[in-house]
Order: sequence, then structure tokens, then C-alpha cells
Amino acid sequence: DQEAARAAASKDDLRSPICCILGHVDTGKTKLLDKIRQTNVQEGEAGGITQQIGATYFPVEALKKKTAVVNQDGAFEFKVPGLLVIDTPGHESFSNLRSRGSSLCNIAILVVDIMHGLEPQTLESMRLLRDRKTPFIVALNKIDRLYGWKQVANNGFRESLALQNKGVQNEFRDRLEKTKLAFAEQSFNSELYYENKSMAKFVSLVPTSAHTGEGIPDMLKLITTLTQERMTGQLMYLSEVEATVLEVKVIEGLGTTIDIILNNGILHEGDTVVLCGTEGAITTKIRGLLTPAEMKELRVKSVYVHNKSVKAALGVKISANGLDHAIAGSRMLFVKDPNDEDEIEELEEDVMGDLENLMSKISKT
Ligand code: GDP
Repeated sequence: DQEAARAAASKDDLRSPICCILGHVDTGKTKLLDKIRQTNVQEGEAGGITQQIGATYFPVEALKKKTAVVNQDGAFEFKVPGLLVIDTPGHESFSNLRSRGSSLCNIAILVVDIMHGLEPQTLESMRLLRDRKTPFIVALNKIDRLYGWKQVANNGFRESLALQNKGVQNEFRDRLEKTKLAFAEQSFNSELYYENKSMAKFVSLVPTSAHTGEGIPDMLKLITTLTQERMTGQLMYLSEVEATVLEVKVIEGLGTTIDIILNNGILHEGDTVVLCGTEGAITTKIRGLLTPAEMKELRVKSVYVHNKSVKAALGVKISANGLDHAIAGSRMLFVKDPNDEDEIEELEEDVMGDLENLMSKISKT
């Protein structure tokens, strides 16, 4: 009985928070993602990191391994089950998501190039984060470009900074202070993360290099801290279905499919859902809940495997009829009773509100 299963799940299951990476073009968003996904094969460090549709999942074991250099005494306690990081920074559909008060992200990493400071899209991202009260940290990226920087691959930032000569340390402080001033001009108080006494009052700045990996352990630990401090326990429990359409894609053999992020709840094959479409609301039944096949499964003919059900938070591809005019950036709503026409009508009206929001934003820019 599906309802019973859902009710049981909402009590016992934790879901992982969802993290987005934002920032001006060329600040290193893609490179940072690549670097945190990279696993150390020699040390068998994969820790269950899984590539999903539109997202990468880091189970807590992987987070622990990736933060080990900055948690050598093991004093830092992990409470989250893992972290889902959205893969498409700066993607077109993502800018839709960014512009309508979407609940896609629970937390965000705003990437700033330490050599450039705040740039136009940085300011835009900050406005969006402020509007929807999304907690965020700032990755002050490209520290390896400070003149004379001596790198120690994948090191904790403080340890690396201590190894630099005075000139490099001075240049770092100089650029840090300039960045803090620029943030203050935007009415954001900020602090270097280990000098930050209140994450509620000050935005934490974490210096990183996507090239050398320095500061990335600090960044992951910081984002975990922020999640644990600023997200209520409630948010982390599986409850009602919440989903966001990331992409609409034609796939050979499947027709038009949608890639969604399931922010919360559980979906089953056969569930009825309502989507926002350019030609009106789309009400359809989920035919396939598809996730990427693992390497060893690639002998079978499809690159996707079917799932009877999937649980938040994750990225999943949905095949269904009538998806041709679906719109990326809008929500996908779950129909509790497919025989209840009133419910469907209400959900259709609700989801079409997304279109107005998307359009008004597009016409403004
Ligand atoms: P995005 O547009 O924000 O996704 O930026 P990319 O990840 O594509 O990076 C833009 C450019 O900056 C590329 O040439 C990267 O190799 C370079 N880059 C990114 N991160 C770093 C870094 O930490 N150090 C240095 N030196 N270059 C970086």
C-alpha cells in the first residue's frame, strides 16, 4: 500500500540536502565540481560517490574521506546522510531555476575569483540567494594564482597558507580585505571562515583552488557545517513529493523525457504528475524512472536502468507521454488521487503559475 509506505518513510528516512554552485562565468564553478567529484583511486577513496541525472551524490562516507585532512582528530561530527550537488552551474535551465523562488537548493556555494572580486553575475546570484533566504558560503577560488603560491595538492587551506612566504600571505590578506569590503557594499557581512564567529550573521569565505584542490576539504566541511547549523531537522526528513524539472530532452527510443531533481519525497513508476508546459499544463503518468546504469551493467542494451521507486534527494530521468512541451525550471507536482479531477485541476493551475514567473523574469532581462 503506497500511502502507508509514504507515511512510514516520512517518519524514519533522512534525506540529503541539495547544494547548488553559483557565480560569475569563469570563476571556476565547473572546475570545482570536477575536483570534488574526483576520487583518489589509489586510496580507494570513491566512498560511494554516484553520478546521477543532473547531479552528483556524496554519501556521508565520501564527505568524511574528503574532509579528513581538516578533521584529523575526528572532532567534527557529521549529521547529514549525504549531500546532493547539482551538476549544471550556469546552465540555461538553471538560470530559470535561479530566477523563480524555487526550492531547488537548500544551500549554495557562491564562487568568486579571488583575482577579480565581485562581478556582475556574482551580484545577481547574491540577490537571488538573499531573496529566497538560501544559506550560502563563498568559495574564494583560484588562490593558486596568487603570485608565488607554493601548492600542496588537496591540502587544508590554513596549512597551505602557513607554508607561503610573507609576500604571498600579504597579497592574500589584501585581496581578502578587498573582497570583504565589496561584500559589505552589498550589505553582506563576511569573514574568513575560520575567523567567523557567527554563521548566522556573517557569510563565510573559504579560499580554494580548483586546480590544486587546496581548500576543498575546508569547503566541504564548511558546507556540511552550514547545513547542519542552518537547516532544521524537519527539512531533512522525507515528506511530500517536491520536484524540479532541470531539462527536457529527446532520447532515442524513449521520446521526450524530463530530467528532474527529486527534492523531497518518494516517486513510483505509475504515479501521476502535473507539469508546466508551453501549451498548457501536462498531466501524465510516469512510465519510467530512469537512472544511469553502472559500468558493469553497460553490457545490457540501455544506458539507463528502470527503478520501481526512487527516494529524495536525487536526480532522475522520467519517461512519460506528452512531455514535448514541458518547461525546464518549473516544478513537477504529484497527484495523490489520479481519479480526483478537482485535485488535478488545482495542481494544473498551481503549476502554470510557474510559467508566468518564468516569463516575467525572461522579459525583464
Ligand atoms: P565556470 O565558468 O565558472 O564554470 O568556470 P570554469 O570551471 O570553466 O573555469 C574557467 C577557467 O578558469 C578555466 O580555464 C579553468 O581552468 C580556470 N580555473 C578554474 N578554477 C581555477 C583555479 O582554482 N585556479 C586556476 N589557476 N584556474 C582555475
